Amino acid sequence: MALIVQKYGGSSVADTDRIKNVAKRVAQYHQRGDRIVVVVSAMRGVTDGLIALAKNIAPLPSEREMDMLLATGEQQTIALTAIALHALGVPAVSLTGAQAGIVTDGVHTKAKIHNITPKAVHELLHAGSVVIVAGFQGETREGQITTLGRGGSDLTAIALAAALKADLCQIYTDVDGVYTADPHLVPDAKKLNEISYDEMLELASLGTKVMQSRSVEFAKKFRVVFEVRSSLNDNPGTIVKEETKSMEGVVVRGVSLDKNQAKLTLVAVPDQPGVAARIFKAIGDAAINVDMIVQNISHGSGTPATDLSFTVDKPDLLKAKQVLENLKPTIGYQAIITNENIGKLSIVGVGMKSHSGVAGKMFEVLAREGVNIDMISTSEIKISVVIDLAKGESAMKALHAAFVS
Ligand code: ASP
Ligand code: MG
Repeated sequence: MALIVQKYGGSSVADTDRIKNVAKRVAQYHQRGDRIVVVVSAMRGVTDGLIALAKNIAPLPSEREMDMLLATGEQQTIALTAIALHALGVPAVSLTGAQAGIVTDGVHTKAKIHNITPKAVHELLHAGSVVIVAGFQGETREGQITTLGRGGSDLTAIALAAALKADLCQIYTDVDGVYTADPHLVPDAKKLNEISYDEMLELASLGTKVMQSRSVEFAKKFRVVFEVRSSLNDNPGTIVKEETKSMEGVVVRGVSLDKNQAKLTLVAVPDQPGVAARIFKAIGDAAINVDMIVQNISHGSGTPATDLSFTVDKPDLLKAKQVLENLKPTIGYQAIITNENIGKLSIVGVGMKSHSGVAGKMFEVLAREGVNIDMISTSEIKISVVIDLAKGESAMKALHAAFVS
């Protein structure tokens, strides 16, 4: 008799047949005597479709009205899922985020959860019902509907699991779990039985996007152990949990390639205190995220100058270039060079903390493949390099073969 939170993403509830399948799975657990809370996303494509409708009317619609609109996507799914369970003879009640007691701040379209008071959920579970909660949404203390940012149903599930002290939290999706690399690009990639929160966060932020990063951070903070698994079969998935000693035995857990970065280089920036601060303050004020930064002192004659390179998300490239152009008169660099044809290739593993020589081996493999390294960055559990995009996939396969398989 466990209390289980199950989350089904948009692909798992893509049409009425899939919703009926979800209902069958939920019914099995319910018949076993488990208490089940189901969190669902909008059906696949529904949220995007609603956004497109609004943008058809106005390029920058009011964020409050966007929340009002987008919250309807999940509301369709909760009702349909309840109806599918009723058809199987299983008692079920659907609840909006607000009805489930999810209270958020007032930042429309990317609200943060303040607290959860799941009184209604407890009462319904106690009465023997399956409870179906709309993902991705909540309500402010003043009663305004909010949403939690794209992919936010994951957060609803993790946060509810924490608030309900659930025994199990299952995130159902259309893949079997977390892989050592993107299986579409690396046929040898293997499903992982377990992974630590930190490794999962690195892999999520590196483009192996299985889950919303904020939800993984939340799970880490509140120590919610969860399983990522497929709604299309009964295979066990990947358990995501705190790092254990045995995890350190594996040096590299996964390899990933992020094709969504672009690089900017400022040539001959005056080498004086405060210059980098001014540049990155302006970039930050424009809400542009910077990932890697590299600075090279040029040892020529004349006024000391440096070349400064950094990477941003590709969609932010033009905006970043504009910000830098505005700074030219006050900072006085020579030129801006941009490059969109880069890939960020990374190896990730908590085992790196206790193993040496990992970077050397990585660079050796890349050298053998004839790959030139443009930028390097490291953390305790990750080494990333920026390389030519055209060589990204073959280089990723080589690293996977050398470290993982
Ligand atoms: N329906 C929302 C989205 O598409 C939330 C979710 O799917 O988790 O972003
Ligand atoms: Mg989703």
